[in-house]
Amino acid sequence: MKKLIRGIIDFRKHRIGEYREKFSKLALGQAPDTLFIACSDSRVVPNLFASTDPGDLFVIRNVANLIPPCDTHGQSKGDLSEWAAIEFAVLQLRVSDIVVCGHSECGGINAILNGRDKAPGDHLRCWLEHGEHAASVMARIDFSGSTLAEHNKISQANVLLQLDHLRSYPVIQDRIKAGNLAIHGWWFDIGSGDVHAYNEKTRRFALIGA
Ligand SMILES: [Zn+2]
Repeated sequence: MKKLIRGIIDFRKHRIGEYREKFSKLALGQAPDTLFIACSDSRVVPNLFASTDPGDLFVIRNVANLIPPCDTHGQSKGDLSEWAAIEFAVLQLRVSDIVVCGHSECGGINAILNGRDKAPGDHLRCWLEHGEHAASVMARIDFSGSTLAEHNKISQANVLLQLDHLRSYPVIQDRIKAGNLAIHGWWFDIGSGDVHAYNEKTRRFALIGA
């Protein structure tokens, strides 16, 4: 906590100047073009690894970057929080892109692999249900020649599963059909700081900018 307070004081003393103009403009409203969905993991730092500025990303973070799918009535099967944020991003902010970004060494994915019944806490056990079937979509990724550990392969598969969950909502389907929205699966490798994007043609996660 002391580091957090020191950081706030340091920002106010030494760095606020370079952001003053941007913040004064942003105070009038936000217009991010991307909704970024990532894990709550402290090592996942979208603003750092994507070099984004304040106002660039509308962000949802939760354990294991999960998006509960919708039921037959178009209602979320999970917490309302995720879908309230997605509706705001799509219907109000009219973002053009949604990124679901998984990451290496994800504790949520490890908990699923170890059996979510062993996870600490009732809510966590329940929440992880939305990623439980990640292994079932692994065949959609070409892992030939890959040196990734099994849990990281499952983490990449989980990104595809969450894209499926996103597509289960009529509002997302409508926007994609109209050509107003694109959705992307990314994966952050903590050890290298690299970000990979899923390519549907090659069925592989490829390094962005390689
Ligand atoms: Zn994680």
